[in-house]
Amino acid sequence: MAPEEAILLSQYIQKKSLSGFEKEAGGFLADICRNKGLIVEELQSPENSYNFAASLYPLSHNKPNIIFLNHIDVVPEGNAGSWLHEPFSGTIADNSVWGRGAIDLKGVAIMQLMAIEKAKQWAGEETLPYNVTLLCVSGEEMDNQGIKDVIEHSFKKLNPAVVFGEGGTGLSQISGTYPEQPFYCISVSEKKALWLKLSLSIQTSGHGSVPPPLYANKVMTQALNRLLEREQEIIFDETTVAFFKTVGRYEKGIRKLVLKHPRLFKGLMKKALREDPIILSILTNTITVTNINNAQLSTNQIAPEIEVLLDCRLLPGTDPGKFIEDIRDMLDVEDIRITVLKETPSAPASERGNFYKQLQSAIEEVYDNSAVLPVLSPAHSDNNFLRRMGVPVYGLTPVQLTQAQLLSFHNSNEHITLNQLQAGIKVYENLLRNLLLN
Ligand SMILES: [Zn+2]
Repeated sequence: MAPEEAILLSQYIQKKSLSGFEKEAGGFLADICRNKGLIVEELQSPENSYNFAASLYPLSHNKPNIIFLNHIDVVPEGNAGSWLHEPFSGTIADNSVWGRGAIDLKGVAIMQLMAIEKAKQWAGEETLPYNVTLLCVSGEEMDNQGIKDVIEHSFKKLNPAVVFGEGGTGLSQISGTYPEQPFYCISVSEKKALWLKLSLSIQTSGHGSVPPPLYANKVMTQALNRLLEREQEIIFDETTVAFFKTVGRYEKGIRKLVLKHPRLFKGLMKKALREDPIILSILTNTITVTNINNAQLSTNQIAPEIEVLLDCRLLPGTDPGKFIEDIRDMLDVEDIRITVLKETPSAPASERGNFYKQLQSAIEEVYDNSAVLPVLSPAHSDNNFLRRMGVPVYGLTPVQLTQAQLLSFHNSNEHITLNQLQAGIKVYENLLRNLLLN
């Protein structure tokens, strides 16, 4: 018989919950919370979505609150044929629970819930210094609508002192000297997404047999070349310096020296840093051409208009207006119009004070010889919406993921092992014990 957390996760995965359609899955999880004696309060959300809080004490008590944040929605299954088990079956096999959401982020929600259930034992009297809330929101994978609604309508009521959400995770293969060394990366900061549309319209003759000297596709391609050829500056912020310094402790020789003083050896590291896309993504602003569009015409017709989509990701502290001006300069074509399609909030990094330290020791108690470090996340999430409200947010899926599991994110064969579930619950339990009983 599988343990309770595996069965709950399996059932939760079976409630398919694509972004915008989280109601059934959310209602299912809220019922489980009620059965475990938590106080469930539904929060405002659009009709087919669902946001709710499940807490030790009623929110009306207005205690400072430790919030465990997770999202109910999942991304689609992708190529269903390449899954070993049906993506929404929640199959329990080979000591794992399989299915979309097993890691991102239904597995985490179950770990958090099991730990809060444990904390309930301590909450018999009104003596705990904090409330604890499992905050389950919709729409994280799409437009962050859930967290936006929660902040707009329920922020005050939630009274967050700290939020523990998603972001980093446990990884190895970070140290070149000791590739097996496990690291637990707590995300304390994240880049801002800035999605842009470039449009250019040039009326010319229309026949491909006699090319005009300048036409829309040619001018845009040349402008994009200028834009993409320019190397973005490498910027070490406080979080990435702390990251490299910690990794340096687990290296030897010249690597140790260089990583412990990243700013000093920036020149020396530059080439190596530029060769690793993940490292480069946390050290530079990035510009990715994700789409180039013309109206569907025949091969011998010259399209008079072209649209290009850019996915730009900005380091904390980058001024988006200035960034767009730089893009305009690099394109160097006056007629290209730049439209902002989406912009996520930027926020300063969360401090590595007591909440961070208690999470660190909760991890170290569960995982022997683990190294805990802060990271800047290259992707955006719900976290910065809360950081912008002045709340410290720490992002971590508290398990050591294998390479296969990392590949399974938003891909086929997402799964989590029963051991990982248990270890993750233990981390959250330790964290609550450290914060509530010490
Ligand atoms: Zn997620």
